[in-house]
Amino acid sequence: MKITGISVWKIDLPLREGRYSWANGKYVEVFDSTVIEIRTDSGISGYGECCPLGPVYLPAYAAGVRAGLCEIAPSLISADPTQITEINRQMDTALGGHPYVKSPVDIACWDILAKAAGRPLCDLLGGRAQNDVRLYRAISQDTADAMAASTRRYLDEGYRAFQLKVGGAPADDIERIRAVRGSLPDDCILVADANTGWTRHEAIRVVDAIQHLDVYIEQPCPGYGECVSVRRRTNRPFILDEVICSVPDLVRAVSEDAMDVINLKISRVGGITKARTMRDVCVELGIPMTIEDSWGGDIATAAIGHLAVSTPADFCFSATDFNSYGSKPISDQAPDRERGRLMISGRPGLGIEPEPGSLGPPVLDFGE
Ligand code: MG
Repeated sequence: MKITGISVWKIDLPLREGRYSWANGKYVEVFDSTVIEIRTDSGISGYGECCPLGPVYLPAYAAGVRAGLCEIAPSLISADPTQITEINRQMDTALGGHPYVKSPVDIACWDILAKAAGRPLCDLLGGRAQNDVRLYRAISQDTADAMAASTRRYLDEGYRAFQLKVGGAPADDIERIRAVRGSLPDDCILVADANTGWTRHEAIRVVDAIQHLDVYIEQPCPGYGECVSVRRRTNRPFILDEVICSVPDLVRAVSEDAMDVINLKISRVGGITKARTMRDVCVELGIPMTIEDSWGGDIATAAIGHLAVSTPADFCFSATDFNSYGSKPISDQAPDRERGRLMISGRPGLGIEPEPGSLGPPVLDFGE
């Protein structure tokens, strides 16, 4: 099989809630997502998506996805998309680093391989370990009362795991955590995610104040060493996210007992190929994961869903249904949710084909 053409679309994803806010006053109102289609000489097409969380969350930005694809895509014409490790090598030859740029290509190649095999993608990632997966709901940063009210709304929809966006002033964050934990049933999971927003002393003030509450602490500070310092000084379960970008990062953090759970974002590590390797290492080393991405729409959510359902339930701490945060579906085949759990289709590949016309005209075309 050979790649004959690659098309790229820029998709604006407005938010149902109007705005998504997290640490230190950062926010996004309309996400800029990139969707790609890879066409082949067999008639099979695959789809991928990459949507950074704005330009100041990770070293990734929306226009950078498309600029990077201009470096990579020409060299992939005539390559075999089913030889995915080789495709990854070719991408690394065409462009150093920039794993997020390579992620949508890798996802689209997995979509093609699974369609060629006539199997849903989860079957190629190890098989269905779960029929559906627990979702967490991210609660956009706001006042303590507003965040508690938002949490209760999503509790009513069936969500049982919540991720509070903190990383602001310590006194405000302590109030946020107490208000939301106090409004939740005991069996619900609550994560306070600072998204790197605290300095060490701020983090210590927060973790000391909430040390008797049932809450996880996620990525308090920007650096790995700072996070480990906070980890050593709290008895709360601890999650690392932004600093875990590769297998070496993961192995080091496990060997140094730096966390109890990681947050695995598909585009941050460079696609499904690398995310699957890290997933498998986590299972072997006893580290549960939140499986997700930086952001996305229907296609990114489908990729998350397939990786998550092929992960044993004990190791799938939660996943994210990004397409439920936005108001712009591109297909009625998108993964759906029921009572806070994500389900994927049994159709071959990712199981989602964009509706004709839903993407508009492509902004970039390579090959035929
Ligand atoms: Mg996080």
